[in-house]
Amino acid sequence: MAEPQLDLSKTYDAIVVGSGAAGGMAAHVLTSHGMQVLLLEAGKKLPIEQELRSMEWPYDNAHRGYFAPESHSLTFNEYTIRNPPYGAGFEKAKHLHCYVGSSDYVKNIVVDEREHPFTGTNYAWVRARCLGGKTNIWGRLALRLSDYDFKAKSRDGFGEDWPISYGDIAPYYDKVDLYLGIMGVKENLPHLPDGIFQRPQKLNCAEVTLKQSLQKMGRVLTQYRAGVTSEGLKHNKYRSRCYGRGACERKGGCDIHAAFDSPTGLIHPALDTGSLTLRTNAVVREVTVDPETGKASGVQFIDSQTMKDYAVHAKVVVLAASTLESTRLLLLSKSRLYPKGLANSSGHVGHNFCEHLMGPGVTGRAKDLVAKPSTLDDGRPGGFYLTRFRNLSEKHPKFIRGYGFEGGSGCGMFPHGTDVHGFGASFKEEVRKNQGAYISMGAFGEVLARYENYVDLDPVVRDKWGIPSLRFHYKFGDNEHRMAEDMKETSQEMFEAAGFEIVRVNSRVLTEGWSIHELGTARMGTDPKTSVLNQFQQSHDVKNLFVVDGSAFVSASCQNPTWTIMSLCWRSCDYLADEFRKGNL
Ligand SMILES: Cc1cc2nc3c(=O)[nH]c(=O)nc-3n(C[C@H](O)[C@H](O)[C@H](O)COP(=O)(O)OP(=O)(O)OC[C@H]3O[C@@H](n4cnc5c(N)ncnc54)[C@H](O)[C@@H]3O)c2cc1C
Ligand code: SF4
Repeated sequence: MAEPQLDLSKTYDAIVVGSGAAGGMAAHVLTSHGMQVLLLEAGKKLPIEQELRSMEWPYDNAHRGYFAPESHSLTFNEYTIRNPPYGAGFEKAKHLHCYVGSSDYVKNIVVDEREHPFTGTNYAWVRARCLGGKTNIWGRLALRLSDYDFKAKSRDGFGEDWPISYGDIAPYYDKVDLYLGIMGVKENLPHLPDGIFQRPQKLNCAEVTLKQSLQKMGRVLTQYRAGVTSEGLKHNKYRSRCYGRGACERKGGCDIHAAFDSPTGLIHPALDTGSLTLRTNAVVREVTVDPETGKASGVQFIDSQTMKDYAVHAKVVVLAASTLESTRLLLLSKSRLYPKGLANSSGHVGHNFCEHLMGPGVTGRAKDLVAKPSTLDDGRPGGFYLTRFRNLSEKHPKFIRGYGFEGGSGCGMFPHGTDVHGFGASFKEEVRKNQGAYISMGAFGEVLARYENYVDLDPVVRDKWGIPSLRFHYKFGDNEHRMAEDMKETSQEMFEAAGFEIVRVNSRVLTEGWSIHELGTARMGTDPKTSVLNQFQQSHDVKNLFVVDGSAFVSASCQNPTWTIMSLCWRSCDYLADEFRKGNL
């Protein structure tokens, strides 16, 4: 079927801005309700299989999988010693990318920092501008939140509770599991609810040793819950099941789409309904407002290639441009009616910014695995997840909230653990002997949502399209630093208890933003004075405006957010479609 083309004279039922996890889900759900939807994506539609090339061997790539020397990817030190915008000082580099951009497979997916400047405090802001956004290259760990997260304030007094409970979102987590596919093992944990899992991958030897040792401490290590279909999805002809080729390990996605990505998981099926119009290269710069009603009337966008300006109209506007980009659009949409920006009568747009802290972790060696025969361990979409154990039944004296660890072990295409020194035949033999014995893990911890951590618009700096850039006012606080100390200590303790020789303990906290889990800045809540959106991600101020990405999060939890972003979005879009049908929007 020919794809419908953009019709500037039409008033669409809904415009969705952004085509990542949130925008793809909004397009899927709204078209499934029969609504006529226009999906606007700032980036290109890339020939994604040619970009990802998951079957390519490192030796068939000109730079062994790394990008060409004329490009530069920002390092930890550069993020720390330079102030944003990060362009200055890298004049020799043809392209300048965030830290994720060091791989040849993502060079056209992540943005060039010089075209997308931001200012203020240091932040490793990873952005992907193309159809599907960051879902083309995400790490696939698909976790649920629980009432330990949604009702965290009721437990420790900090911040705000979410306006929903686990029971409200659980049916939508189930829908997402079934529609997109997830691998995992049931553990019956109240703080990490189980999903409807497809066949899990296997843990390897060192991982089982760690799991068994942790059981004695009352801690739980489980198989990586990957947003990957291991058994296939009969309802989706665009995706194949995982056949464990191991390309997951490198930075770059899955070219057979066993791992979820928004285009094949959500947007292609939505296009098949005939109710979706997709316009790429459409950089939205403002939500327009009807001055009579105060309602959203559509958006204005710039064609990223021709620089031409367009106005498009809809009865409902759904922002899904990712956390921070949706918030930027709210702040950009100032008018006589909304002088502080759209949906911002509370003054909370941009505030309560939160995410996950990364850095502390440990590498060890399982001595009894040294010199054992090689195993195929990188044919998996992930290793293990060690679930949160702090501030559940007991209260930690030094910090609130919790953290989990992502980790893995075994023989990979590129050997783990680099404490082996030397050269020549003896060096190679040492690497071969030791490679399967390494095990490592790194922590992801909750960063508290504080009003004083915020973004606003820079009064001077603009992006390549002349749109004002964001300015960051964001720093980790004492709770995060105390938690990081604990991450370092517990990771070492747990490896020692499992009998691993400690190779390295990381105590360094990575730059703000490193987790790529930016959240908050347009939070949900019951009180319009202290929140931006209601429990259905609908603006308190403008009833036909919805913000369905991570901006709506009230707190970050320590679990990775994408499965929750999509489940919340599905719930909100069901509500939206129902209200639309009743004529309430
Ligand atoms: C390397 C990596 C590993 C990750 N690992 C995990 C993981 O293991 N687990 C997990 O849960 N999450 C992970 N994430 C995070 C995950 O990718 C995001 O949570 C998710 O993609 C968010 O979806 P989104 O739709 O909000 O944003 P995005 O996926 O970023 O999509 C937003 C889209 O909006 C478009 N857009 C932006 N501004 C505009 C505009 N003005 N006009 C029009 N379009 C616009 C962008 O071009 C983009 O396509 C990872 C991310 C990366 C990069
Ligand atoms: S291991 Fe599976 S999900 Fe990962 S790249 Fe290979 S086929 Fe895709």
